[in-house]
Amino acid sequence: MIERAMDSKEWEWTSRRLSLLRKRAVEWFHVNGRDLPWRRTSDPYAIWISEIMLQQTQVATVIPYYQRFLKSFPKVNDLAKASLDEVYQHWAGLGYYRRARQLHDAAKIVSETHSGIFPTSHQDVSKLPGIGRYTVGAILSFATDQRQPIVEANTQRLYARLLHWPEDLASKNSQNALWTFAEQVLPAKSGSGIVNQSLMEIGSQICTAKSPNCMACPLNSLCPTFANGSQAMIPAPKKPKIYTELKEGALIIRDDRGCFLMRRCSADERWAGLWDFPRFDVTDHANPSSAKRKLRQEFSKKFQHDVLIGRELNQLKHAVTRYRITLQSYEAILESTPPKKWVADLMAQGLEVRWLNAEELSELAVNSSANRLRKMLFKNGV
Ligand code: SF4
Repeated sequence: MIERAMDSKEWEWTSRRLSLLRKRAVEWFHVNGRDLPWRRTSDPYAIWISEIMLQQTQVATVIPYYQRFLKSFPKVNDLAKASLDEVYQHWAGLGYYRRARQLHDAAKIVSETHSGIFPTSHQDVSKLPGIGRYTVGAILSFATDQRQPIVEANTQRLYARLLHWPEDLASKNSQNALWTFAEQVLPAKSGSGIVNQSLMEIGSQICTAKSPNCMACPLNSLCPTFANGSQAMIPAPKKPKIYTELKEGALIIRDDRGCFLMRRCSADERWAGLWDFPRFDVTDHANPSSAKRKLRQEFSKKFQHDVLIGRELNQLKHAVTRYRITLQSYEAILESTPPKKWVADLMAQGLEVRWLNAEELSELAVNSSANRLRKMLFKNGV
């Protein structure tokens, strides 16, 4: 059991030690901070875009996406006016398309209720879809220097070490302690934006998870975890995720022109708004012929037409939230030519489907596993 060094008077975060921490962090950042495109602006809209893109995605990957996105949608109204498909096209490759959809929804709200000017009050920003507590703090402190705390993966680890915090960081108690500290470290008057950025940068570049570079850390003389040599134990290792295994079947259906049948995921499904091959759950059907039977039934129920399922194509594994999914794809054709109104009838019932040639399919905003299926088809010379 690690003793909490904070119990010792020596490590208490007095105002003198906090002020020293700010000074050292900011001095270090001025010399060592990376020159990133979103650090050259104080436009809250641009900072918002960067923050959403940076969720779950590496900085180097985000840079070209961020630049392209702002070139196409320089103002929030440009984003609000774009179609969701256009937004998805700019997002293709970043994954987690829910972020793009929420950006688009939030831009429409800003356009309609804030006259296209990105809000700068905590209350207004927090109401926008897809913007959590960290993102509000980041936008407002970076763009307008408001005294707003931030806790994300890098600062969370850094603060846990500066507090010598031994508990699981996911607990409510830990989150309260981290957010309280995040607020404490901010200066009373101006300078919160630069302090937040400096601490994030130290967390990301120096106080890394596996091998913190304590000798080069500007905060080392203030750090109880360094003094105790307990970097490997703080933060406490995360509890392993428990996954549920699922099996799904995807149907690669082509018509006699060689076009593929694709469907758009509806608002209440995962990957809402993105396109997918017709896909159904077959978790309880271990036997291949039973899985095919189930797929035929499900297809005819949903698409109101029968399908003939042929040979198995490839199998891939992917994870979505707490699910591990084995996806088996099959070659398929419709059993007979559907009525002319078939697509329109399905559309009227809320199921958006399209027949697409290979070129159209290559440009479609699809979810990540459908993207892997699409690549497999193109690789095999569709
Ligand atoms: S001294 Fe080491 S453990 Fe402490 S904040 Fe710096 S890098 Fe992290």
